[in-house]
Amino acid sequence: DPGLHIVATPIGNLGDMTLRGLATLAAADLIVCEDTRVTRVLLARYAIARRLIAYHEHNAAAQRPRILRELAAGHAVALVSDAGTPLISDPGYRLVAEAVEAGHAVVPVPGASAMLAALVASGLPTDAFFFAGFLPQKEGARRKRLAALVAVPGSLVFYESARRLAAALADMAAVLGGARPAVVARELTKTFETYRRGSLAGLAAELAGEDAPKGEIVVVIGPPEETAPDAADIDTLLIGLLETGTV
Ligand code: SAM
Repeated sequence: DPGLHIVATPIGNLGDMTLRGLATLAAADLIVCEDTRVTRVLLARYAIARRLIAYHEHNAAAQRPRILRELAAGHAVALVSDAGTPLISDPGYRLVAEAVEAGHAVVPVPGASAMLAALVASGLPTDAFFFAGFLPQKEGARRKRLAALVAVPGSLVFYESARRLAAALADMAAVLGGARPAVVARELTKTFETYRRGSLAGLAAELAGEDAPKGEIVVVIGPPEETAPDAADIDTLLIGLLETGTV
């Protein structure tokens, strides 16, 4: 069908490729991917041979008009990333925004995403969560970003590189509070899938004394503890409401 189809691909285990995803790729006039080498391996496995172009940080601005022209011509365009769901810490947001703006059909073909896989296996609350993607690499910027997340009333989900995991956990413990429960999920859906659970302070201390782990990592952190408002807070709230004429 004409339009932009956002197709999820596996995050490790090829069994997670969906039937609808494969049918969508096989029927596409054009497949837009991150790295053509990575996507060619996936397509070869299912004997799918379609026109392929790369769309990534460095060529996105130049490629977008070209892809929008294909959509305007009534072609079926499939968007994939190297792994998981496109647009989730991966390219595609601007392309989708411009496709919507231009009135083209935009169709999700859902499947694997590391953030949901980690969240649902974490054992931490799932009723409300905030996906925070990758933290900044420099400590100052990272702590600032974390400080803005302290009061989010739900679990927090981060992508992190194995190399920076220990440093990130140390900052998380320092800024978010060492007592918050956390899970480090590694190599989801792959042979060496592992979960390490503990308090942020405990995990930070453990990881500080080890070699950097290998593989891909998601960090999930439980919500801040709910504290009942004390009398002084309620007074302040009421005074505020009275002053603004709300009550
Ligand atoms: N779009 C992808 C998705 O939907 O999950 C995420 C792409 S992002 C560039 C890559 C990051 O996702 C990795 O650095 C890691 O934090 C996380 N990730 C991807 N696959 C993973 C896996 N199998 N296990 C753990 N984390 C994974």
